[in-house]
Amino acid sequence: MAQLSDDCFAFGGPMMSVDEAVGLITARVSAIADLETVALVDADGRVLARDIAAPLPLPPFTNSAVDGYAVRNADLPGQAERAFPLDGRIQAGGLANAAIKPGHTARIFTGAPMPPDAETVFMQEDVRIDESGQVVLPPGLKPGANVRPAGEDVPQGHVALRAGQRLRPQHVALAAAFGLNRLNVVRRIRVAVFSTGDELASPGEPRAASQLFDSNRFMLMAMLRRLGCEVSDLGILRDERSLLADGLKQVAGRHDLILTTGGVSTGEEDHVKAAVESIGSLVLWRMAIKPGRPVAMGIIDGTPLIGLPGNPVASFVTFVHVVRPTVLSLAGSPPEKLLPIPVRAAFTYKKKIARREYVRASLRRGDDGVLEAVKFPREGAGLLSSLVETDGLVELGEDITGVEPGDSVGFLSYAELI
Ligand code: AMP
Ligand code: MG
Repeated sequence: MAQLSDDCFAFGGPMMSVDEAVGLITARVSAIADLETVALVDADGRVLARDIAAPLPLPPFTNSAVDGYAVRNADLPGQAERAFPLDGRIQAGGLANAAIKPGHTARIFTGAPMPPDAETVFMQEDVRIDESGQVVLPPGLKPGANVRPAGEDVPQGHVALRAGQRLRPQHVALAAAFGLNRLNVVRRIRVAVFSTGDELASPGEPRAASQLFDSNRFMLMAMLRRLGCEVSDLGILRDERSLLADGLKQVAGRHDLILTTGGVSTGEEDHVKAAVESIGSLVLWRMAIKPGRPVAMGIIDGTPLIGLPGNPVASFVTFVHVVRPTVLSLAGSPPEKLLPIPVRAAFTYKKKIARREYVRASLRRGDDGVLEAVKFPREGAGLLSSLVETDGLVELGEDITGVEPGDSVGFLSYAELI
């Protein structure tokens, strides 16, 4: 389990920028050292635990890139076309033991090994067979054309996959190309998830008239699973300090991270802070981010705790900036910088300087074909439908004070955020 010191997340400043928050997290959370071996088919989404150096070159042998005819470079037609007697036929998976004879050509297919001494392949579309059955090759082809040399993709010994890499299908493919069928990965990060609030009922259970169904817990668990975590669903904690403290205390030490939602503002019924303080240590991070309110960071028995705000959109946005880098750090993955893509704003917006704001937006193509961001018409941080009906978030940096239609703004798709 993660073992962090009590003052690990302490922060002196009045308001923390998003970059400061991410910097603090990535500097102080140390990676889980435990690893496990998984079958390659189960490796997608896991974090690689060890570097992988290519055990063989890719491609493993020099082969033809096309269906066609192989020749020696010395025989390449210079000025005029030239007829070659056909000598040999090599299919993909076949052997090419016999060297190609001078002045001859061999029929060859895509992926078939080049015969010894053959260095160039003519595409079959560029070739004709004359009445005597000879293969007529045109002039002007570059030596080495249409051949894939051994190791041109990855040379043998090259470190092609790095420890800390979150594996995507293309990484799995590369490992497969190396012949590996099992990979060493970091064990899943174990996260305990609680919602807090007397007003919450679990989906599937009865709901009193003054209650709403708990949506954040399911959103957060889904986001955590997308980050490869093993999630313990610990339900809803009531707004009572001692109950909260008992619930949190029970899971500390058995998880790498505790995540709560709700109860971290400064209202009388926001008990998460007091509960954490009674059994561990706590700081409130007032982050200069909208939507988002204070995020609580704490340590209970060496286990880090993150308390997210209760409003669903604030919970979503602060997850991306606080929980995601924490989980990646715990798994030993380098921080992934989110890179907004430039799009044209199709909205007006006023904003405070020195605060980063995220505007929920949909993309559409303008009349001139340029991508435009259309702002969701309403702003409340409680509007779950705003996350469902948009494509992502426009990121407005600390320096910006407003947006006018036509301005270039940075857009982060939900697909990239999580
Ligand atoms: P809080 O941060 O506890 O003051 O909650 C802020 C708002 O978010 C309140 O309107 C809560 O009802 C709402 N809220 C808190 N937790 C959840 C949750 N798990 N799912 C949906 N809404 C929530
Ligand atoms: Mg609450």
